[in-house]
Amino acid sequence: PETITIQELANRMSERAVDVIKFLMKQGQMHKITDVIDADTAQLVAEELGHTVKRVAESDVEEGLFDTPDVDENLVARPPVVTIMGHVDHGKTSLLDAIRKTNVVSGEAGGITQHIGAYQVTSPLGGKITFIDTPGHAAFTAMRARGAKVTDIVVLVVAADDGVMPQTVEAITHAQAAGVPLIVAINKVDKPDANPQRVRTELLQHSIVVESMGGETLEFEVSAKTGQGLDSLLEGLQLQAEILDLKANPERSSEGTVIEAKLDRGRGPVATVLVQRGTLHTGDIVVAGAEWGRVRALVNDVGQNVKEAGPSVPVEILGFNGTPEAGDRVAVVESEARAREITEYRTRQKRERAAARMGSAGRTLADMMR
Ligand code: GDP
Ligand code: MG
Repeated sequence: PETITIQELANRMSERAVDVIKFLMKQGQMHKITDVIDADTAQLVAEELGHTVKRVAESDVEEGLFDTPDVDENLVARPPVVTIMGHVDHGKTSLLDAIRKTNVVSGEAGGITQHIGAYQVTSPLGGKITFIDTPGHAAFTAMRARGAKVTDIVVLVVAADDGVMPQTVEAITHAQAAGVPLIVAINKVDKPDANPQRVRTELLQHSIVVESMGGETLEFEVSAKTGQGLDSLLEGLQLQAEILDLKANPERSSEGTVIEAKLDRGRGPVATVLVQRGTLHTGDIVVAGAEWGRVRALVNDVGQNVKEAGPSVPVEILGFNGTPEAGDRVAVVESEARAREITEYRTRQKRERAAARMGSAGRTLADMMR
């Protein structure tokens, strides 16, 4: 039977294990952090704590679909995938916009008006960096809950005039739980009441020791408003990426994760996907969640049609038969028959779970009316 430890369940939800234990205690179950609970109990806990649950069965149908290892000799460096996190109004959106603007050649097709939920820029040192353009802990948590690991580095934005706030601490917790390294961007240093030093000191209380205080965490003073420090931040990200030694094999069957998806009136289902392994090509048959399709077109972050997209490249996929969900993992399969087999199996599972939930709800209602 499927099981999970309390610690792992808490990690996947980005919740504290103690909160899971507390919840179970209220249900009359006493557990330690290392205890194993069954999948149904885990699902109940997750849903009660406000998470969407997607149970991935270890069935034959899914066999070999994901995480087939890369062969060493084909590994090449890939760009880091970066997510910006931080307290509300500390400048996440402004930073993402400012970074993108400094990098987009004016007049480029689509230009900066194009928005696909992720984009790539070139650091002053020449390396590419991929930014996930959906700031917010919700997206990060949703993806992690589905077992998708998309982020290599988190940029923690802290406003220099406001300091460390509750969502700053939350972001630190998320990043640490996911084992993702942090880089600190002390933003709004253009403001007269900016106090970057206070930010550094406050971070110490959350065991983030920045470089200038003798620690290992890179920190940069920036202003999304004036553009100050953005180049240094990008250089820092490339440096951090080199330390992480990120590699992927571009010459294999592709895997990725849906960053966002929508039903477009003219174009049908459109999924923005971060390619994580291999290279995705037009004409490939892809599955994502309970949806599949043949890739009719790939559109890059500046609105250009492209024939292929390699590791760490964000791209829109056109051609899905239905709209997948953010956080769904994407894989290329060898045939339409295989795609149908997988998605029909997943649809069936979804239905059965929904029916099981309805069943128990019905019983509860009947119990109440006795
Ligand atoms: P988010 O909630 O973290 O996405 O924050 P926003 O990017 O929406 O920024 C919140 C407010 O701070 C907006 O009014 C921005 O114009 C302002 N802001 C963001 N970055 C800077 C900065 O570097 N300097 C100044 N002076 N204002 C900034
Ligand atoms: Mg914002």
